[in-house]
Amino acid sequence: MTGAGYTRGALRLFHEHEQVVICHEPEAGLRAIIAVHDTTLGPALGGIRMWTYASDEDALTDVLRLARGMTYKNSAAGLPLGGGKTVVIGDPRTQKSELLFRALGRFVESLGGRYLAAEDVGTSTADAEIVARETRHITGLPVEKGGSGDPSPMTAWGVVSGMRAAIEEAGVGDRLEGVRVAVQGAGHVGGGVVRHLLAAGARVTVSDIYADRVDPLVALGAQAADPVAIHAVECDIYSPCALGAVIRPETVEQLRCRVVAGAANNQLLDGGMGDALHARGILYAPDFVINAGGVINIGEELGQAYDADRARRSVERIADTLRAVFARAKADGVPTHIAADRLAEERIAAARAADPDPLSGLRPAG
Ligand code: NAD
Repeated sequence: MTGAGYTRGALRLFHEHEQVVICHEPEAGLRAIIAVHDTTLGPALGGIRMWTYASDEDALTDVLRLARGMTYKNSAAGLPLGGGKTVVIGDPRTQKSELLFRALGRFVESLGGRYLAAEDVGTSTADAEIVARETRHITGLPVEKGGSGDPSPMTAWGVVSGMRAAIEEAGVGDRLEGVRVAVQGAGHVGGGVVRHLLAAGARVTVSDIYADRVDPLVALGAQAADPVAIHAVECDIYSPCALGAVIRPETVEQLRCRVVAGAANNQLLDGGMGDALHARGILYAPDFVINAGGVINIGEELGQAYDADRARRSVERIADTLRAVFARAKADGVPTHIAADRLAEERIAAARAADPDPLSGLRPAG
């Protein structure tokens, strides 16, 4: 898309957001944008992404799109949280500094708790600890510091829990044993998904652009596949755990699976791809429902002491949420990606109807 196209796209999304903050502190090398999309359900939770954007328009479009996605994810997960996001413009390999994250922390603090930060692509728990020197409104700190830690193990556990509900719905069976799964991406989440699947007796094929991520999984019993062809492997479940937009016109007709269920955000290039999966009889487990384990885990540290066992049980309820999505899709005669959107939107609409002032929960008392 051209720059002008991006700007138009960003402006369309802009009107849906409650607040967008440009964070600029040249002495700290900080250029960032915080987007608060919707706080109807509670403070806007969303991670800090650090990335080398080609232009400021790209960064703005990304943060607006991601913040909106967080509203849907947090709503569908039943959390008392709205959606927000931060993007830091810069190279996470070379441009991180204490000054930068402290400056960002002060901007987060200035929002007074309307926005709750967390780690995301390009940032780590170590960065979150620096942000925490300037604000209380940061989540995902290490467990020994009272936080819920790295979210990816819980995201992986949630994906596998969701897979159980999806194979049952698709008529593959009610056990993962013997089920053939093709996992794209062997990173933090994908690697965890593969390990859980192997432990459950599934037959796993895995690919990554880095062989050293795949090799340890092959040693555990997985089969390696070519990254460019993983989506076309004949299997029961295709599990995108790397990049977004992997279901697109060139790939959707090549899928040879019965279920798509993975961790990657924005797996569908657009809604038309959800329709195409539906038309082919492939069951899609909507990404923002099945990959919510990380935010559910963060929800477990808010207002109470974090307990990993309780968090794991909460994450397993992703299977129930997916069953509700599948039931709604059937009842409404729509593909699952639309049913998931409707469930998320209805929860927000009900909360808004009960309390029409969107900022009432965020004002200081008195
Ligand atoms: P990660 O960076 O640890 O892993 C991604 C892996 O995908 C890397 O190993 C990378 O080499 C690989 N990869 C990149 N391009 C590939 C390709 N074309 N084919 C195969 N492999 C490829 O990231 P992660 O934390 O594991 O997250 C994976 C996905 O899940 C992302 O889309 C992320 O947004 C999403 N997600 C993550 C979490 C979480 O808790 N980490 C939560 C929700 C959603």
